Amino acid sequence: MGLLQDKKGIIFGVANERSIAWAIAKALRREGAHLAFTYANKTLESRVKPLAESMGSEIVLPCDVTVDGEIDGVFDTIKERWGGLDIVIHSIAFAEKNELKGMFMDTSREGFRIAMDVSVYSLVAITRRALPLMEGRGSSIVTLTYYGSEKVVKNYNVMGVCKSALESAVRYLASDIGPRGVRINAISAGPVKTLAAMGISGFRDILDVVEKKSPLRRNITQEDVASTALYLASSLSSGVTGEVIYVDSGYHIMGV
Ligand code: NAP
Repeated sequence: MGLLQDKKGIIFGVANERSIAWAIAKALRREGAHLAFTYANKTLESRVKPLAESMGSEIVLPCDVTVDGEIDGVFDTIKERWGGLDIVIHSIAFAEKNELKGMFMDTSREGFRIAMDVSVYSLVAITRRALPLMEGRGSSIVTLTYYGSEKVVKNYNVMGVCKSALESAVRYLASDIGPRGVRINAISAGPVKTLAAMGISGFRDILDVVEKKSPLRRNITQEDVASTALYLASSLSSGVTGEVIYVDSGYHIMGV
């Protein structure tokens, strides 16, 4: 029997087969979870649907996380189809490309707002709606963050500020939902070549530095992240909430 036999999970943030969310979905499915997926827009529908169907998922729903009605629609459907929910994977972030180069102080008001809305507020909005379906079943929410929340990473700019806010939101949410038996944690993943990452100017240089300087002397893979997500989604981590867990080849521990 798998670690997640017959658990019900929803995955936000599959864009294609390189997405971190897709590697997580494969790991959860392998351990017996039944999964629902969302896609952000029509273009992605044609990419996400076949992936979801390839693992027998019957629930594939539109959800632009900036639209409250679409988030409501997702959780209404989950309630109707499953009645409850054990796992939420939030693997979503967005900033306009022009905000991910040059100086942080040049971030526009609108660019800041959009990045915060999609990358941070979405976790709050999703958690609030998921909670009634998740309480009292040892459920778990997992989100994705990055080291640019703590240290200045060239060109990461507004997304670094978003990730700081996201990590703080994880702690506040953990305190809110813990008494109702639901956990929430973040994985701070090292750089991985995905669609979102390729929008960051000079991303290749970040990969090179991690390969040269991290204790493990390699970049991580989506599967490395997925294994930790599996731990956080399962009862193996039953006493863990409000944490940021690093899957970064140890890069963040290094000083000079
Ligand atoms: P990805 O495959 O491009 O996934 C990002 C997802 O966010 C996409 O599915 C994207 O959909 C979705 N998204 C953006 N705006 C949205 C909206 N308004 N509504 C709903 N979904 C929206 O890239 P990824 O690297 O796997 O990113 C997943 C998470 O990991 C992000 O939080 C990212 O910051 C984090 N992370 C990534 C790395 C890395 O190096 N790759 C490292 C640490 C943390 P669209 O394609 O339609 O925009």
